Amino acid sequence: MENITVLGSTGSIGRSTLDVVRRNSDRFRVFALGAGSNVEQMFADVMEFKPDFAVLSDESASSRLKDLLAGSNSVTKILSGYDQLSFIASHESCDSVMAAIVGAAGLIPALAAVRAGKKLYLANKESLVMTGHLFIMALKESGSRILPVDSEHNAIFQSLPETEQLRLGFCSMRDAGVSRILLTGSGGPFRQLPLDRLASVTPEEAVAHPTWNMGSKISVDSSTMMNKGFEFIEAKWLFNLNNDDIQVVIHPQSVIHSMVQYRDGSVIAQMGNPDMRTPIARVMAYPDRIDSGVGSLDFFALSGLSFFEPDYSRYPCLKLAIDSCWAGQAATTALNAANEVAVAAFLNHEVSYPRIYEICSRTVERHSADTIVDVESVLELDRRARETASALL
Ligand code: NAD
Ligand code: MG
Repeated sequence: MENITVLGSTGSIGRSTLDVVRRNSDRFRVFALGAGSNVEQMFADVMEFKPDFAVLSDESASSRLKDLLAGSNSVTKILSGYDQLSFIASHESCDSVMAAIVGAAGLIPALAAVRAGKKLYLANKESLVMTGHLFIMALKESGSRILPVDSEHNAIFQSLPETEQLRLGFCSMRDAGVSRILLTGSGGPFRQLPLDRLASVTPEEAVAHPTWNMGSKISVDSSTMMNKGFEFIEAKWLFNLNNDDIQVVIHPQSVIHSMVQYRDGSVIAQMGNPDMRTPIARVMAYPDRIDSGVGSLDFFALSGLSFFEPDYSRYPCLKLAIDSCWAGQAATTALNAANEVAVAAFLNHEVSYPRIYEICSRTVERHSADTIVDVESVLELDRRARETASALL
């Protein structure tokens, strides 16, 4: 029985993870749940999964949760505050951690899991965008394993030989005979919108993703393709890539989740319905295959598969992220911080859609030469970049 801690349990990935646990209760037991402030969802999950611990980082939310549970026969210990997320991620009775908190808030608890040698199922791509090399070195030091949940990285993982699957962070594309990683993305809801309409798109339009159902921040990131840019950076660190090893391909149907092209001309792709329970089940059961609740892909129902090169005038955030990837750690840390500030402001109707790019690029310009030596300096840069981005708002 694997004792799993689910961080971000009330979110989109968290809910899908709990569904996979529910379907495979002979293999997995929820050791702990962690989230921000969603009391009602946490209450329901505590009653159903009976974890040892439940953490809400928001203190008033956790006291409301305690009140709600007072009349029940629940024996789950309720903890409150951000630091307790790292406590449940590194607890000696926990075997594995699903890191599915959104944004920079996910970094410290994910790192705590790595440092404690836990098997890490990584959904929080922002961790690698913010700390790349430091994160991979922490993995090496503790000997912990990382398995990618993000559907594209999970597809690449599945399409690589086992030798590379077992050394994420330290892969060699040359040894594996890989000529190129093809990172696919749908292009989001504005792929065909006339360019002059982009200035007036609303948050409601931006979160309506054509193929995937996700949290609001990542949905906006998908519409700008900043998400693909972050995934480019995430792929660089997970698969140890150089400039020419990776290319972004727009594939609107989201049937192929990414591909690996080999020196001999072979291309191996992973396909399936766009449902995150597939990559979640893949990492949780690896190397086995378990029921995820996802139906079989019906090839006869597909209208066709198409592929396009990304147009950077439509997706300037993608270009900015790729340039930041090769510019270095300070650039990607600043980019992540600015993007969080700008996307939150856009979702709040405080800035127009094109301002997301503008705020990000000006923040990166300001901070790309800053120095990063350790996690503390990453957090410090994250704070300064948020100040810069907020001032630009
Ligand atoms: P979401 O918004 O649906 O859920 C976010 C979760 O994080 C919630 O449980 C929330 O309570 C928790 N959270 C937020 N701030 C917190 C804080 N300060 N302390 C504790 N908990 C906090 O997001 P999501 O779509 O599930 O995405 C989660 C992560 O997975 C993101 O990093 C995203 O990039 C990545 N991801 C998501 C998908 C997807 O399909 N949703 C796919 C690939 C990767
Ligand atoms: Mg993805």
